[in-house]
Amino acid sequence: MNYSRQREIILDTLTRNAVHPTAEKLFQIIRDENPDTNIGIATVYRNLRKLADMGVIKRIEGLEDAEHFDHNTHTHYHFMCEKCKKVYDIESDVAPSLIENTQKQTGFIINGYDIVYHGICKDCQDV
Ligand SMILES: [Zn+2]
Ligand SMILES: [Zn+2]
Repeated sequence: MNYSRQREIILDTLTRNAVHPTAEKLFQIIRDENPDTNIGIATVYRNLRKLADMGVIKRIEGLEDAEHFDHNTHTHYHFMCEKCKKVYDIESDVAPSLIENTQKQTGFIINGYDIVYHGICKDCQDV
C-alpha cells in the first residue's frame, strides 16, 4: 500500500470517529475496519504528526495522557472526562470574547490556544 493511500485511510478514519482518539485508539479502529491492511502503529503516528504539522488536523495539547488528534480544526474548546477519558468538543461560543478580553487585559498577542476542561461527562454521571 502506498503512502498516500495509507494517509487517506488514517484521515478518513479520524474524520468518521470524532472522538479525539489517540494514535493507539485510531490504530485499533483502522485494524478493525481494514483487517487486511498492513498499516502499523508507527505509520499511524507518523501520518498523524505530519497531518497536524500541515494543519489538516489538530493535535490537542494539555491533556494528561497520550496525544489526542482532532479532525476539527475550527475554533473550539475541549472537555476531558476524568472517568472515561473521552474528549468532547465545546463550542467556542460559550465564551465568545474570551480571547479578545484576554488580549485586551494582558496586551499579549494570542496566536492560538488549547483550552481543556476537566470533569465528569454526562454519561459517567449516570453510573
Ligand atoms: Zn465520561
Ligand atoms: Zn475537538
